[in-house]
Amino acid sequence: MDKLTVRDADVAGKRVFVRVDFNVPIADGKVQDDSRIRAAVPTIALLVQAGARVILASHLGRPNGKVVDSLRLRPVGQRLAELIRRNVPVTGDALGVGTEDALKRMRPGEIVLLENLRFHPEEEANDPGFAATLASYADVYVNDAFGTAHRAHASTVGIADQLPAFAGLLMERELTMLSKLLEAPERPFAAILGGAKVSDKIAVIDNLLTKVDLLVLGGGMANTFLLAKGKTIGKSLAEPDRVEDARRILATAEKNGVRVVLPVDVIVAKEVTRGTEYKTLLAEKIPASWHIVDLGKQSQELMLDALADVKTVFWNGPLGVFEIPSFAHGTNAVARMLADRADQGATVVVGGGDSVAAITRQGLASKMTHISTGGGASLEFLEGRVLPGVTVLLDREPAEQPKPAATKSTPKPAAKKAAASATKKATTTKTPAATKTPAATKAAAKTASRK
Ligand code: ADP
Ligand code: MG
Repeated sequence: MDKLTVRDADVAGKRVFVRVDFNVPIADGKVQDDSRIRAAVPTIALLVQAGARVILASHLGRPNGKVVDSLRLRPVGQRLAELIRRNVPVTGDALGVGTEDALKRMRPGEIVLLENLRFHPEEEANDPGFAATLASYADVYVNDAFGTAHRAHASTVGIADQLPAFAGLLMERELTMLSKLLEAPERPFAAILGGAKVSDKIAVIDNLLTKVDLLVLGGGMANTFLLAKGKTIGKSLAEPDRVEDARRILATAEKNGVRVVLPVDVIVAKEVTRGTEYKTLLAEKIPASWHIVDLGKQSQELMLDALADVKTVFWNGPLGVFEIPSFAHGTNAVARMLADRADQGATVVVGGGDSVAAITRQGLASKMTHISTGGGASLEFLEGRVLPGVTVLLDREPAEQPKPAATKSTPKPAAKKAAASATKKATTTKTPAATKTPAATKAAAKTASRK
């Protein structure tokens, strides 16, 4: 990975602000799914062991800039405390004198979790003053919140301009796994895309069409492709204004030699609810009163067959209305098959909240090579876009190249310029003297040279 990580940072005794993604489902004051909390534990444990003072910060839900009691992070702090067997006090607010005092009193190896950042509208607005206050809490910044890396907020982007900024271990793993898909996938490489809205997935399909050998489409989004192929789909979910995109994608796939597998038979239901009447039909002419809700048996066989020898797979989006058990068969069959492929050494990466929920429900999550903690972020990354929360992290120096003797002692103009602006940066930002270790100074020079 070309970003410096928390392993490169000098953190002993330092105050380290760690942006984590603790946006987890909570009901009755209890965390319902702690996978995102578990995913952040390696970074937290590393910092605690190194004797850092660990200031954790996250958002939870959508409080829209106001205090919402049901979106307080206390249950998250409790769950984390159980997982790491340490005290994790949660501040009453991310800002304020009480919080500043609590942070000042921290000793090496201690952890504090700031209250929900999004109780302040300044977080999502990437307000410079808010970012500066967060930065004033710490000497070093670590971003381990991959799931929020596609958002330019105060705690993901603003703060990183004011402190030496490193990737956490989860962030590192996410970027490594997802980059591997785009840069060096072992072939055959397949993308399986499903879910509700085709409009969410067009950009990612466009980019993946230049990378994959096989594209498997299912779920609600495949309906728009069926329309593009001149089929009728009854009352099924579809986006008629995206039929043109679907047509273009099919044409590009053909030109690029990418095989596209669409459903050939489907489960149709009278209503998209439990206990409704349903049956299997060919995906040709669905009568007006039916909804497509799942893959039929033939589609499942066709898809499993097409995927039989893949070496790399990216999957996003359930292949049916998996929340209703009768319509989860296609999703479940593909999940079992991918768990098997992963067992046999294929690289299987799954992203997307609902897709991951479907796999977890079957107890197959641990079988996959990588389960991305970021749905939107993983899609944006695979669209080929640069994530703002990643851009701001410090770049790793390229490995030393042996230089010709003549240039050894004269610094290149570019390097000089970088050094000059690094000095300027050092005088205009509040980087505390304590962080000016050789690594941090080098890091600061790197940041400056990137701007
Ligand atoms: P992810 O969260 O994995 O990115 P999406 O949010 O894109 O996935 O899509 C998940 C939703 O798609 C689920 O709620 C599921 O019920 C819905 N879905 C899948 N297939 C269909 C279908 N045929 N008709 C309507 N909704 C569907
Ligand atoms: Mg979803």
